[in-house]
This record gives sequence, C-alpha cells and structure tokens, in this order.
Amino acid sequence: MSKRFDQVKKQLLQLRQELMQDVSSSYETCREMGQDGVPDIGDMSSVAYSRDVLFNLSETQRQKIHDIDVALEQITKGEYGVCMSCGEDISPRRMEVRPFSRYCIECKTDIEKFGE
Ligand SMILES: [Zn+2]
Repeated sequence: MSKRFDQVKKQLLQLRQELMQDVSSSYETCREMGQDGVPDIGDMSSVAYSRDVLFNLSETQRQKIHDIDVALEQITKGEYGVCMSCGEDISPRRMEVRPFSRYCIECKTDIEKFGE
C-alpha cells in the first residue's frame, strides 16, 4: 500500500474516534434527561426538544462515521480521492477541507439536487 495516504488515514482515524466519543456522550445526556422524575409540562417540552436535537446530532455524526469508514476502505483499495459517481479525481483542495468526500463537487451538487 502506498505511503501517500498515511497522513490522511491517521487524520480519519482520529476524527472517527472523536465522533464516536461525541455520539456516546450524547446518548449519556439523553439517558440522564429521561431519568429525573416527572417534569412539569414546561420542562417536558424542553426535554423533548433537547432530545430531538441530540438525536439529529448523533444521526449526522453516525452518517459522518460511515463516510469515514468508506474513505478508509477506499484508501485500502487505492481508490481514495476518486469520485464514486463519475470516477474523476476529486480536487485535493476539497479532500483537504473534507477528507472523507466521496464525490467531486459537480456530482455532489447533482446528488443534492436529484438524490443518489
Ligand atoms: Zn464526480
């Protein structure tokens, strides 16, 4: 395997670990919120709201973890940095900003518009 992606791989693995920690601490917070007795109506709506926010947050994080896993797999296969839709190289600038990008900017725009 080429050494070219060693740095990226390290970066991805660290990012993944941080996300995993965030997700599990969100779950902890959710559980704690559900455990303190019977809240009055006002509290209940704010608890429900916080739960939604946390749930969506962890949903986004889970998606990100998945993206990172795919990127790691692509490194292993030597396909890292290649758009999964059109097969063109993704611009290095884009990979730098978001090291787990799966699509070039053109395809990403299309996917956001028309779905995967
Ligand atoms: Zn593309």
